[in-house]
Amino acid sequence: MVHETIEQLIKLQAMDTRLYIVDSKLAMVPEAVRAVKSEYERLKQNNELDVQRFTALKDEHTSAKISLEEKKDMASAAQKKLLSVQNSREYEAALKEMDNLKRDISALEKQTADAAIELKRLEAAIAELSAACEEKDNLYNRLKREKEVEDQALHDEAALLRRERAEFAETIKKNITARYERIRKARNNVAIAPIISETCTGCNMKVPPQFAVDVKKERDLLQCPYCQRFLYSPEKEAVTKNSA
Ligand SMILES: [Zn+2]
Repeated sequence: MVHETIEQLIKLQAMDTRLYIVDSKLAMVPEAVRAVKSEYERLKQNNELDVQRFTALKDEHTSAKISLEEKKDMASAAQKKLLSVQNSREYEAALKEMDNLKRDISALEKQTADAAIELKRLEAAIAELSAACEEKDNLYNRLKREKEVEDQALHDEAALLRRERAEFAETIKKNITARYERIRKARNNVAIAPIISETCTGCNMKVPPQFAVDVKKERDLLQCPYCQRFLYSPEKEAVTKNSA
């Protein structure tokens, strides 16, 4: 009875190990695909930075243009005032105001002209990066699809293995599979391990000699005192197989 359970668990473990390998292969993203994805992310991030700068500069440009218009209005008002001055002191003051306004206007004109050039440059850079992003995204999706097609055989194998595994697990006692599952999940997908030279090969810990003998004699469904994995003796396994 114990022997039969151990054999069942060894078989279940072999299925789980195979399934784990197939799932790992499916989950693995090839380096070429990963490289395209990270290049896409880098471009996208740069593009977002350009868009942020563009938006901020556009706001600045708009308010500089508004200030420019205001200063121009003020300059024409000052110009009119200049014509109606009563004395030289008023004339001096109006002239000074005109000069100040002219300086402001010239500075704002330069600022808006520079901003217009930079906005154009950013606009072109954004368009270029957007196109590059789209290209990388398309390439990434194409490579991903290609991998999915390549993976079809593995998908099929995984589906078949899952079906077989589920059917086989049905033949084992529920409380045993429940324990097996708990250990497998906690112990890196390995729930049953052979004991070799009185050592659990699951955790590489030496077990007491009498315990090793008990495992070998299959006195009970025994678990490693250190890692809790089910234990079996491979020699015993080989002997039984040969005699069967
Ligand atoms: Zn162990």
